[in-house]
Amino acid sequence: MDYDVIIVGARVAGSALAALLGQHGHRVLLLDKAQFPSDTLSTHFFRAPALRVFERLGVLEEVKSAAPPMTVMWNYIDGHVVSDPVEAHEEHLRYFLCERRITLDWILFQHAAREPNVEIRQGAQVRELIQFDGRVAGVRWSEAGGMNEATARVVVGADGIYSTLAKILGPAFESQFPVRRCMYYTYFQGIEPLDEAAFAEHHFVGDTLTYVFPTDAHLTLVAVSAPISEFASFKKEPLKRLCAHLASLPLLAPRLSKAEIVAEVKGAGNIPCYQRVPYGHGWALVGDAHQIMDPWSGMGIDHAATHASILADSLHRFLTDAASWDVTMSDYHAQARRWSEKTYRRTSTYAADLRPMTHAALQKRGLV
Ligand SMILES: Cc1cc2nc3c(=O)[nH]c(=O)nc-3n(C[C@H](O)[C@H](O)[C@H](O)COP(=O)(O)OP(=O)(O)OC[C@H]3O[C@@H](n4cnc5c(N)ncnc54)[C@H](O)[C@@H]3O)c2cc1C
Repeated sequence: MDYDVIIVGARVAGSALAALLGQHGHRVLLLDKAQFPSDTLSTHFFRAPALRVFERLGVLEEVKSAAPPMTVMWNYIDGHVVSDPVEAHEEHLRYFLCERRITLDWILFQHAAREPNVEIRQGAQVRELIQFDGRVAGVRWSEAGGMNEATARVVVGADGIYSTLAKILGPAFESQFPVRRCMYYTYFQGIEPLDEAAFAEHHFVGDTLTYVFPTDAHLTLVAVSAPISEFASFKKEPLKRLCAHLASLPLLAPRLSKAEIVAEVKGAGNIPCYQRVPYGHGWALVGDAHQIMDPWSGMGIDHAATHASILADSLHRFLTDAASWDVTMSDYHAQARRWSEKTYRRTSTYAADLRPMTHAALQKRGLV
């Protein structure tokens, strides 16, 4: 075998997994069809679970220094304002970060590239799997106009929602929810802040949720999650539709008078919720390739990073012959599922309508 592990996809899940396996002394080939640094369609709000993995990787300080930490969760809910300090078990992780993917993924990618046991190929698109004796044993990829191939004991798809591995291998879905919402976002400069505190702002109005988060490069991310019935109008005129929506928010609109939109308005209305069986003979899936959630809850990065960390431990046990493939991979499956279950169910359920959630939050505080 040329490598212990080949990983397809080098963003949150792939770069984190590659670096952790490399740290354990395993030989890794990390392939991505993109050239880094590069952006991807995603807002980018993450919390203690991802921070924990970045700490394990040794990149927490680098990630933290790239964007302003937010320590207060500020919510406007249909006329009420409710704010809470950010919670985490560890005192030093009591903040959220919002870092553009061009910045976050580049930090993770460079960290993996610095690991001597990790070899990286960019602009390398995996097109086929090498299968031998009923097992996945390698990949064939196109790069600079030519085809290449390599073999490994394990091939991992960290290749996102449109995973090539999943397309070829067709793992069963363990749970599925239809697309319920769309999300559109852009970046602003010059939004008047609420006050001096480091706020992560959520504006809940009916079944729409608007996010206002300070991000890297002195920008503010502004995103809107709306019911899927509004997708057609957002898709037709994203800028006009977004501006009309922001103008309707009582505690945001007046603060936009001197603000300027400095990026294209982008979005998606095709993100379902599902979980797939994440392994088979010689292969595993991690990150969005394994589990997708509607982005309204902003949990994909936390889950991709945490599942990568769990998978790294399972693969390490397999590669060092501490336990069999079936034992280590069913452990990965069970641990990842256990870790994600509550958030996955909550995200999928409330994607259909956020109002029962916000109503319960107000009720709990005696506000309705
Ligand atoms: C509109 C939107 C907003 C979101 N907002 C948030 C948010 O605020 N917070 C949050 O936590 N999550 C958010 N998410 C979810 C988040 O983007 C994902 O959960 C996260 O990107 C998963 O990371 P990943 O590493 O698994 O996959 P990805 O980031 O999708 O990376 C997959 C990589 O695989 C590569 N690849 C794919 N196919 C191949 C191939 N055949 N050969 C080689 N390379 C390949 C791609 O080039 C890509 O670089 C959002 C998603 C969307 C769509």
